[in-house]
Amino acid sequence: QAKEQGRNTYRFYTPTLTTAANERLALDARLRRALANGEFVLHYQPQFESQSGALIGCEALVRWLSPEEGMISPARFIPLAEDTGLIVPLGEWVLRTACAQGRVWLDAGLPALTIAVNLSGRQLQQPDLVQRVADILEQTGLPGERLKLELTESMIMGSGDQTLDLLRAIKALGPRLSIDDFGTGYSSLAYLKRFPIDELKIDQSFVRDIPQDESDMEIAATIIAMARNLHLKVIAEGVETPEQLAFLTSQGCHACQGYLLGHPVPANEFVRTVFGRASGLHPV
Ligand code: C2E
Ligand code: MG
Ligand code: MG
Ligand code: MG
Repeated sequence: QAKEQGRNTYRFYTPTLTTAANERLALDARLRRALANGEFVLHYQPQFESQSGALIGCEALVRWLSPEEGMISPARFIPLAEDTGLIVPLGEWVLRTACAQGRVWLDAGLPALTIAVNLSGRQLQQPDLVQRVADILEQTGLPGERLKLELTESMIMGSGDQTLDLLRAIKALGPRLSIDDFGTGYSSLAYLKRFPIDELKIDQSFVRDIPQDESDMEIAATIIAMARNLHLKVIAEGVETPEQLAFLTSQGCHACQGYLLGHPVPANEFVRTVFGRASGLHPV
């Protein structure tokens, strides 16, 4: 009779669910070990001013160098790390490593960049986030103005005074705040005005099909115009073609980031290829 029940209810579902749950548990364990073993690395992708072409910053993007599988994209582990809370220590490692790298570059006499770091919602919920950012800036010696934190719309929309206070306290340390993937979430103009945001980052989904898709061009142009009216900077991500760069620049988009201008690369390669080109320094 148990067999009978099993057949009618759980039989076809349990094995799949169990497999998925076990896979997540196993991946979570591997991720925790990976963090302890130093298997994460940061790649840096350059950001350029659209008009002048000047190198102005870079975004730090995490990768997992798994001994078994090689380089693993954040799309495969960040969502799970967010679910399990591992994103908090991992995100702190990212922030510390990116700030330390920024300081190394300054000490080497390379042109000053702004280093952008992605924050997740779980990190924003940490009551001691401000102190952690302050400690990392102090310990690494990166000037606060050299750091930019990328948030997403969902992290601030609908949030209360507590989040507002937290972001103001972070801003008081010097970092700038950017809204990543802008246009994919729900944003209210009131929030954009009320929160101490410095920059909108146009999501790559609106850039990808420029100039074929007219509505994407309209959306990108509208975001750029809105940023101008709100006195915010605006950067486009996912810029892959000269046509996209030309259109965004003509609309007044301040900065661009994408494969056309540079892929995310390890720090040593960034110095060789990106700084080398932008500063006229000889490659090391
Ligand atoms: P994101 O912050 O929106 O980063 C942009 C993604 O677009 C990166 O993917 C980047 O490599 C990719 N990209 C850059 N230029 C181009 C282009 O021209 N064309 C196309 N098709 N893609 C381009 P990546 O490195 O795989 O990161 C994916 C996402 O993972 C990031 O999206 C971000 O949400 C998350 N992520 C990465 N590193 C971290 C981190 O340290 N902390 C947190 N919380 N999230 C991170
Ligand atoms: Mg980002
Ligand atoms: Mg983005
Ligand atoms: Mg994205």
